[in-house]
Amino acid sequence: MGTFGFKVEAVDGPARAGVARSGHGDFLTPAFMPVGTAGTVKGITTAELRVAGADIVLSNTYHLFLRPGHRVIGELGGLHRFMNWSGPILTDSGGFQAFSMADRVKMDDRGFEFSSILDGSRHLLSPELSMEIQAALGSDIVMVLDECPALPAPRKRLEEAVARTTAWARRCVESYDGPGVLFGIVQGGTCMDLRERSAAELQEIGFPGYAVGGVAVGEPEDQIAGIAGRTAALLPEDKPRYLMGVGRPQDLVEAVARGLDMFDCVMPTRNARNGTLFTSRGKVNIKRAGHQRDPSPLDPECDCEACTKYSRAYLRHLFMSNEILGHRLHTIHNLTFYLRLMRRMRAAIFEGRFEAFRREFMSSPAVGVEP
Ligand SMILES: [Zn+2]
Repeated sequence: MGTFGFKVEAVDGPARAGVARSGHGDFLTPAFMPVGTAGTVKGITTAELRVAGADIVLSNTYHLFLRPGHRVIGELGGLHRFMNWSGPILTDSGGFQAFSMADRVKMDDRGFEFSSILDGSRHLLSPELSMEIQAALGSDIVMVLDECPALPAPRKRLEEAVARTTAWARRCVESYDGPGVLFGIVQGGTCMDLRERSAAELQEIGFPGYAVGGVAVGEPEDQIAGIAGRTAALLPEDKPRYLMGVGRPQDLVEAVARGLDMFDCVMPTRNARNGTLFTSRGKVNIKRAGHQRDPSPLDPECDCEACTKYSRAYLRHLFMSNEILGHRLHTIHNLTFYLRLMRRMRAAIFEGRFEAFRREFMSSPAVGVEP
């Protein structure tokens, strides 16, 4: 087991600002983790990630297991060296992708049996294999294998998923032998009593951090923050709380307001590649013809390379011409926007004005679409 520490430095209502210490340095919370699915945040270098303000990245076990394989990465010195990222890395368990992306999935107490999307080969992703992969990658934060049913789901289905998630969490703790630490994942869907049971069972095992899983998997968007917040309240105050797979900027603000500390989402990077850009004036669709002759910056309040060196007209041109530079600049911008939002929330918590910040942000043009 590796080293990990977490300290809450300031609280403002339920919102918290903290610092987490990992084997590869610190990261500040509230933290947003850019998603580097295949060991890369698509299109940008790790130096550019740093400039955008990232201090921890997430990578996907499922993809790296299939290609190039965890043994290959292990032989080459682990994922940090492989992808040239010296900061903390969190990896997911692979279960979500094995379940949602793979062909012919069969799930039972052993794990997820699936066919590779690359060559059709059959694999069993068990708790033990997930731990073996994440240990070989050298992840600082290792997620346990959990079962995350799509919502809506009948209560019985959610209950089974909680029981299996606890059993798998135990098996993960028993089998993990690597340089990182494990986070447990609370399941239970929309049933708060099941979430309570899940949180209690995981705390009995004892983890240095806890994730709120099974949100943003089909329930109405306006329920996400509420479920996350009520689950956060079931978790220890001195451990980080990670809301998995969420979300829009306003979701992050509402979740921080309810005591969540860590986030990841493909939204800023995936949207960037689709030409949807987050700005202080709302979401911008860079494809729109109105930008064709627009010499102004994408977001005058942003200090990223895309906003300080180029015009909307040029960014639109790059996108319409399908130029790689467009994808790169848009990714840099969207990540800069998200990571700046996290820093602004952190500052507001330290200054005891988070509620005012939240109200101001939620009524600002940033949460809408630019007219
Ligand atoms: Zn920018």
